[in-house]
Amino acid sequence: MAEQVLVVTGGSRGIGAAVARLAAARGYGVVLNYLGNVAAAEAVCATIHAAGGEAVAVRGDVGREEDIEHIFRAADRMGPLRALVNNAGMIAPVARLDAMEPARIAEILRVNVLGTMLCSAAAVRRMSTRHGGKGGGIVNLSSAAAKLGAPGAYLDYAASKGAIDTFTVGLAVEVAGEGIRVNGVRPGIIDTDFHAQGGEPDRVRRLAPTIPMGRPGTADEVAQTILWLLSEDASYVTGTTLAVTGGRAVVP
Ligand code: NAP
Repeated sequence: MAEQVLVVTGGSRGIGAAVARLAAARGYGVVLNYLGNVAAAEAVCATIHAAGGEAVAVRGDVGREEDIEHIFRAADRMGPLRALVNNAGMIAPVARLDAMEPARIAEILRVNVLGTMLCSAAAVRRMSTRHGGKGGGIVNLSSAAAKLGAPGAYLDYAASKGAIDTFTVGLAVEVAGEGIRVNGVRPGIIDTDFHAQGGEPDRVRRLAPTIPMGRPGTADEVAQTILWLLSEDASYVTGTTLAVTGGRAVVP
């Protein structure tokens, strides 16, 4: 049994994998969800185990209620849930709105928005003092796209992240008196596989010169910010979304 458990969705690669590794190093038992890449998920677990940490990988689609129950039951078996990182997210190939199929838009909203909301509900039912829990923290992955709108490329994705920002504000207030803090992070251009899914594997290199700090961010830098938001050092921070963009301007 772990003293405190953290669930990270989409923990097999990129930012989620960095969160899983860092959380384990900080003493959390980690439930690391993934969609299909079992080898990547098991590799993250193996790294954590080799360092003496506790982690289990659970396959599941965050947009499906029955899969979410499976993920959180694994957490219950490990110990008391104290943290959720809603990290799983998807993007679709670059397109204008007038060329997007309805099914594509629906799928992005299902995974990015419905997934985040349903996982948060499962976490609140476990962590809220109203339900007998000991409190905890939730961090939602937004995106600079939520502020920029991603015209001509990823309007659907950007709008899904705008919904996340609103959800972060509302849920934070809803559970502020129940021991749960809810915050978001707004990454800019982070060097992960994510951009290939949008049909732009070269996006990070192409956009690097537009970043004031002159380089893309790393998954570890985003994970550090997430673990800070979950820590006692951020004990009076709730309902906010922190930009992790290397100075790349996002409209406040
Ligand atoms: P990534 O490297 O592409 O990894 C995505 C992760 O999400 C993988 O672990 C994948 O699992 C999992 N996943 C995808 N769909 C899922 C579903 N339906 N259910 C459960 N898991 C699912 O992505 P990333 O760059 O780390 O991005 C993580 C988050 O940061 C996303 O929410 C993204 O929108 C946000 N973000 C990223 C950037 C960036 O520049 N990279 C910028 C702003 C915001 P499998 O390995 O099994 O496929």
